[in-house]
Amino acid sequence: MSDDIARQFDAVNGHERVRKGLAFLQSDAPRTLEEQKAMTVIPAPPFKEQARAEYFRDRLAGAGVRNVRIDAEGNVIGVHRGSGGPTLVLSAHIDTVFPEGTDLTITEKDGLLIAPGIRDDSRGLAAVLSVARAFAETGLKTGGDIWFVGTVGEEGLGNLRGVRALFRDHAAIGGFISIDGGDMGRVVTGATGSRRYRVTYRGPGGHSFGAFGLPSAVHALGRAIAKISEMRTPQDPKTTFNVGRVRGGTGATAIAEDAVMDLDLRSNSGEELEKIAARALVLIGEAAGEENARWNSDRLTVATEDLGARPAGAQPTDLPIVRAAVASLNSLGVNEIQYVASSTDCNIPISLGIPAVALAGGGKSGGNHSLTEWYDPRLSHLGPQNAFLTVLTLVGLEGVTQPALLRRSDARISRT
Ligand SMILES: [Zn+2]
Repeated sequence: MSDDIARQFDAVNGHERVRKGLAFLQSDAPRTLEEQKAMTVIPAPPFKEQARAEYFRDRLAGAGVRNVRIDAEGNVIGVHRGSGGPTLVLSAHIDTVFPEGTDLTITEKDGLLIAPGIRDDSRGLAAVLSVARAFAETGLKTGGDIWFVGTVGEEGLGNLRGVRALFRDHAAIGGFISIDGGDMGRVVTGATGSRRYRVTYRGPGGHSFGAFGLPSAVHALGRAIAKISEMRTPQDPKTTFNVGRVRGGTGATAIAEDAVMDLDLRSNSGEELEKIAARALVLIGEAAGEENARWNSDRLTVATEDLGARPAGAQPTDLPIVRAAVASLNSLGVNEIQYVASSTDCNIPISLGIPAVALAGGGKSGGNHSLTEWYDPRLSHLGPQNAFLTVLTLVGLEGVTQPALLRRSDARISRT
């Protein structure tokens, strides 16, 4: 089995038209970078990705991809038809973390591009476009179908709504690649799960001096944060907690009527995530009880709102999708491979048992999710080249190799 993948990869990588495609991808780097910049300056805040989606749709159609459309959720989907093999998605996410009104102007300094979202994930979208052009350029025929996709709602409160819709609506998808990452050697094979809560304490309120003796929402919140910050979590599987935002009260002389915190819990294990979430919810309730007991009251209440949940999951690193990506990276001279877990669009397929990886888009980057996010385009062509080779190995080159990926229906049969 493992030798099969190496053989399939070598046959793909050595094929004359594939070599042409790789050369094309290198020559296409300047254009790809221009598209990356063009998409970066089109605002795509959570739930408002439409303008960038339309641009991506038009570029994808311009790259020769057939039947490009925007689905009901807002995802862009275009299909390269194969001859009946497995269906593989090559995707990147359209949305950014940056709210409406963020200044997206790109500044260039010493060869670096600096702008919010310059890499995450405009780079991924641009890489997908370049790979689509390589297929048009080479006319390569594949065994499986390749879906070129831009997803909405990957970040934050988007809660993976785009990729969730994709897998809800299309049972045939047998593999999923997201181009979303900075370091070429980093291969995301695990899904960091998360739970997010908004916790609101409410009390009667009153004058700090005149009404002294009533429970305080801010004091209750303080108790809760103290308890949560003392939680003990395993290092492996990595499990974390963070109270990222608090607000409440009206001023020093008022017993606070309300206090709110946003809590983020994460783990690479679904089981540990459930445990820590259950523990945090108990502590949140205890804090309210203790604040009431302190003042012999029952007037303080707490309500917890669910802000989103992402499933956790792990995959073996000897899956064909992982081995194909690593063979491809090695062939491009990237030999230090790190297998990591992260929170990406891959969380959904991984949690469904469908093979998925997130791969880097080429170049280097840093300052993710900050206003000074930067991108270094040197060797940027390695991202599209890696995606191209990995995809071809997985869907198979018509008349040359079998698909390394299983069809979804076959995968189901073999699992039962
Ligand atoms: Zn991203």
